[in-house]
Amino acid sequence: MGEKINVKDIVKRKKEDLKKKVEFLKEKNIIPKLAVILASEDEASKIYVGKKRKMCEELGILQQEYILDQSVTTEKIVNIINKLNNDSSVHGILVQLPLFRHLDMDKILDSISDKKDVDGFHPLTLGKLFIGEQETFVPCTPKGIMTILDDIGTEYEGKHAVIVGRSRIVGKPISQILLKRGATVTICHSKTNDISNFTKQADILVVAVGKPHIVTKDMVKKGAIVVDVGINRVNGKVIGDVDTENVLDVCSKITPVPGGVGLTTVLSLLENVVQAASEQNNIIKP
Ligand code: NAP
Repeated sequence: MGEKINVKDIVKRKKEDLKKKVEFLKEKNIIPKLAVILASEDEASKIYVGKKRKMCEELGILQQEYILDQSVTTEKIVNIINKLNNDSSVHGILVQLPLFRHLDMDKILDSISDKKDVDGFHPLTLGKLFIGEQETFVPCTPKGIMTILDDIGTEYEGKHAVIVGRSRIVGKPISQILLKRGATVTICHSKTNDISNFTKQADILVVAVGKPHIVTKDMVKKGAIVVDVGINRVNGKVIGDVDTENVLDVCSKITPVPGGVGLTTVLSLLENVVQAASEQNNIIKP
């Protein structure tokens, strides 16, 4: 019988570490600051922005929000970002996705300075990650997944990691990180024939699809570590991509939903803000 990973506890400990880093920077008169741009009516996005605001307050990180209405243009947002790029009191810039449909997402994301790209979506940031450069921002969800896997003492070398999903924000970057750590990586997606052929071989299984319970007990190898990234609302309840209660019979460990990867994703963002504030002030290790 496997166990659910206590992600809340991991986040609690990591928050204490981060608080100390923020205090260290404050002693040097540096107050980490995140600028958040919200240009959508998406309810989930508003909730995420609220969660980020709350954790910023807890940690003593400043947050400046730009809540924009439907009349906003791509040019206006790019102008705001250019100003923020040149404002030395702002260390990180986050554009909450999705954006209003009329906006040019690529143009907006590309205008963020790679030095302030705390979400890690800029092509330059992702390029650095893919060539294995250390000094880059790791996108928040993959970074949060690694926080969990590292904390539970996961071994990567010689292990088979199977990722289901190949998105720019989760599947692709986590595959590269696990590859760099020494795992043998397989990526499955919507065009893969019979994903269970692959999931059954996984020592580490990461599922980021957005389909409730797409991974069931018969698709999981005995003793596997399972990371469930999915967030699905079904009959008013939030559930993951993995049928957790039954998969627990075969896996060794699994992240719960809710209370799993979502928690470390927000933490990772603020870790990136602190990293940005440190690097922009030439402080290598706060
Ligand atoms: P996405 O951009 O929609 O990508 C989904 C991926 O799943 C795609 O690569 C797609 O393949 C693949 N897929 C779709 N149907 C499939 C199937 N039947 N079999 C195998 N693969 C299939 O989604 P995302 O942004 O990566 O997010 C995935 C899930 O994670 C969502 O539920 C999202 O809400 C959640 N999420 C959670 C967090 C968190 O902090 N916990 C953060 C980000 C996302 P194709 O590429 O072929 O279309």
